[in-house]
Amino acid sequence: MTTSLPDTLSLIGNTPLVLLKGPSEAAGAEIYGKCEFANPGASVKDRAALWIVRDAEARGLLQPGGTIVEGTAGNTGIGLALVANALGYKTVIVMPETQSREKMDTLRALRAELVLVPAAPFSNPGHFVHTSRRIAEETEGAIWANQFDNIANRRAHIESTAPEIWAQMEGRIDGFTCAAGTGGTIAGTGLGLKEFRDDITIALTDPHGAALYNYYANGELKPEGSSVAEGIGQGRITANLEGAPIDTQFRISDEEGLYWVTRLLAEEGLCLGLSSGINVAGAVALAKQLGKGSRVATILCDTGFRYLSSLYNPAWLEAKGLPVFPWLKE
Ligand code: PMP
Repeated sequence: MTTSLPDTLSLIGNTPLVLLKGPSEAAGAEIYGKCEFANPGASVKDRAALWIVRDAEARGLLQPGGTIVEGTAGNTGIGLALVANALGYKTVIVMPETQSREKMDTLRALRAELVLVPAAPFSNPGHFVHTSRRIAEETEGAIWANQFDNIANRRAHIESTAPEIWAQMEGRIDGFTCAAGTGGTIAGTGLGLKEFRDDITIALTDPHGAALYNYYANGELKPEGSSVAEGIGQGRITANLEGAPIDTQFRISDEEGLYWVTRLLAEEGLCLGLSSGINVAGAVALAKQLGKGSRVATILCDTGFRYLSSLYNPAWLEAKGLPVFPWLKE
C-alpha cells in the first residue's frame, strides 16, 4: 500500500522557534529558542544521528542489518537508536557511567546495547570514544558513527538547523550562540547562517571546565573550573569545530545556567536540561553586547525530563553545591 504520509524519520528537524520572554526582557532584545527537545528523541542530536547514518549509507559503509557503534554522553545514542530502529540497524552505545540514569534507561528501552565505562580523560585508552572505536573495529558489519570528527554531524546543522532558523526569523537575525559538545551545532549552524548573511555574529557559549573559551579568546586550549552540565564542554578542536566561524565567546557558570532553567520552567513552562540554560545565559550576554532591540537565537538542546534524578532532584543539587529550585524545597 502506498501512502502520501511522511515516514517517522521526517519527524526529525523542523522544530519550532519560540520567543523567550524573560531572557528578552533581561537583555532588552529579542531572544529566540530553537525547540530541539521537540525532536522524536527529545534532543538536538537526532539531527546529527540521521545525517551520520544517511552519510554512511550513501558511502556504502552500512549494509542492511548492520550495526552502528558510538561513544556518546547519551543524546546521540538515543537519536542513533531511533534512526537505527526505523531503518533496520542495530546499535551499540558506549557511555561514561556518570551520565544520567534516565539516559541509560532510555537507551536500553530503545533496544540499544549499552556499554558503560568509567569516566576518563580523552588521553586514556579507556575513554568512551576510544572504546567505541575499538568495538566498531572488532564487530562484523559495524560502522563507528564518530560524531566528534565525522563532519556529517555539522552538515546536519548547515543543511537543516541554519536554514530553518533563517526562515523562522524571516532573515532578521543579528546573532546566534550555543555551547559545544562535538561542536556540530555551533559550527554547522554558524557556517549555515553565514551563508545567508556574513555579518551575523556567531558566539560560542562555553561552560566552565571546557577549553574552548580560552582557545577562541587567546589561542590557548586551556580548561578552567568545572561543570555538571551533560553533553557540552570540549577540550580539543574536533573536526566539526575546525573552521567554525566564532566571532566572540562567553563563559557561563552552572549557577547562571540553572538560573535560566528555573525561570524558563516557572515563567514560560519549558522543562529543559542544563545546557539549554547555559545557552540562554549566553544568548542574553550576546544580545546585551549587540545592543538594544537586537535579535538573537539559541538552542534549547534537550528535555528536562531526562534529568529528573539529577537537575530536578533536591538531594542531587545539594550534593553538587547548586541552589535547589524554590518549589522543590520542603
Ligand atoms: N546539549 C546536550 C544536552 C547535548 O547532549 C549535546 C550533544 N553532545 C549538546 C548540547 C551539544 O551539541 P553538539 O554536540 O552539537 O556540540
